[in-house]
Amino acid sequence: MNASPEAVWKECLDFIRDNISRQSFRTWFEPLRAVSLDEEDDVVKLTVQLPSRFYYEWLEEHYFTLLRKTITKVLGPNGRLFYDIVIERDEAEPHGAPPRSGASMQLPARQPSNVPPASGAPGAPPAGLPPMGAPEGTPPPAGVEPPTALPVGIGGGRRPVANPFAIPGVQKVEVPPNLNEAYTFEGFIEGDCNRLARSASWAIAQQPGSTAFNPFLVYGGVGLGKTHLIQAIGNYALANKTVETVRYVSSERFTSEFVQAIQNNRISEFSATYRSIDLLIVDDVQFFGGKEKTQEEFFHIFNALHQDGKQIVLSTDRPPKDIAGIEERLLSRFGWGLSADIQAPELETRTAILKRQAEKDGMQVRPEVLDYIATHVTNNIRELEGALIKLQAHAALVHQEIDLQMAREVLRDLITETRPSLTVEEIQRVVCDYLKIPEDLVRARTRKREVVQARQIAMWFSKKLTSHSLKTIGLHFGGRDHSTVIHGVGAVDDQIDTDPAFREIIEGIKKKLELHTR
Ligand code: ADP
Ligand code: MG
Repeated sequence: MNASPEAVWKECLDFIRDNISRQSFRTWFEPLRAVSLDEEDDVVKLTVQLPSRFYYEWLEEHYFTLLRKTITKVLGPNGRLFYDIVIERDEAEPHGAPPRSGASMQLPARQPSNVPPASGAPGAPPAGLPPMGAPEGTPPPAGVEPPTALPVGIGGGRRPVANPFAIPGVQKVEVPPNLNEAYTFEGFIEGDCNRLARSASWAIAQQPGSTAFNPFLVYGGVGLGKTHLIQAIGNYALANKTVETVRYVSSERFTSEFVQAIQNNRISEFSATYRSIDLLIVDDVQFFGGKEKTQEEFFHIFNALHQDGKQIVLSTDRPPKDIAGIEERLLSRFGWGLSADIQAPELETRTAILKRQAEKDGMQVRPEVLDYIATHVTNNIRELEGALIKLQAHAALVHQEIDLQMAREVLRDLITETRPSLTVEEIQRVVCDYLKIPEDLVRARTRKREVVQARQIAMWFSKKLTSHSLKTIGLHFGGRDHSTVIHGVGAVDDQIDTDPAFREIIEGIKKKLELHTR
């Protein structure tokens, strides 16, 4: 292979760029660097470096299909993508830790299949099977290799494998927990939005199977922390030995393992293995919808575990009653224990999560920048983290410190969508809050000096920062007419010119208001 890794990666980037939004491209692909290009036994291996593990997870979760398509297009069917991940500080050793070299570790991109294909090209997924490979929610452990035979021997050490149910000739396999060790209780910020779910999870982790919360079902929208929380239960239980065996699995993965077990005539092993687990965590069970055979198998496993006092933890993206295509008998079992929801986080929780994230990444971020992000990125914690990473990547690129100005520029696309526009009432609230004056007084008739001043300042900002006419602004201040507004604005302008202390007050208020604007 004569081409350079850079040239090949550039070709990949050109293809990727045409297939995703500019913003996503800038955030997720521009910071990646090609490291090497090797050819071995017909397999062409392109390695790219990722700035952090988060990139790895994000790419695998969101761009797996695109990356696969790209690599096939540029390198042909025998092309393989590998990641070289720059290790984050104090990152925990994952189970079956991947090999480390210097400050990075190498992981293969998720491959279409880890089992020898029944027919067709090497590495092609068996017909009708979803792609299998790396454990979900966690980078694949060392030993998850592309493609062909799995190098596993019974008693041959603790080498974890991607799918323990597809290994011919192995009777008893240690069940890999499939957990991402980064998902802990310590790293999970508690807020009103998740309090019940978190406390219940904590109680379960102490005594799996022995609380009234069995099964325990967490539900809530995308990116709100379900996977993190349910994996935290597993990580805690393993670390503190409150159980012996844990398995985390997404419902999709459970399904494909089941399908594979059918194809390989290994249903009884599949079933027996799952029944031997002390703490079974199944993520996103809404995807069981419409899969009758899988549901039936899961129903029997569920019953067996429950009867034996084993803990079952489930998550879904909606309340159980709204899940379509799931048999009534299974749904009713989901409701036997406790269902707890996770809501979108409040401002304080968002800020705390960002702060924690910045600390974890060793980033120096000023509080007003964190406030700015937390104020504007409101629906989803994954987006919050994404915003911070984007900023981090940008700051590293331009060798500058992160400040509000940079945040505003870099996050513009992200934030316009969620930005609430500034209203006269918000301005009044911020001004009064800053000057410690009851807000309703600026709309009242009071002529007390400090109230008049607050009122004029709020009018001045309303003129500057909203598109309202003087008349409309006057109406928001207790129905005053436009000449009063003109007078107020003029008075503030005058004082700004002559009084440095006053200028500082204006600056201070401006900073607060900026958190509400683009
Ligand atoms: P879901 O499974 O609900 O889609 P995830 O568990 O994948 O969401 O969470 C998305 C990201 O947000 C993860 O990186 C997770 O660590 C982080 N996260 C979610 N909730 C919290 C929280 N309360 N504290 C800290 N990080 C959180
Ligand atoms: Mg999830």
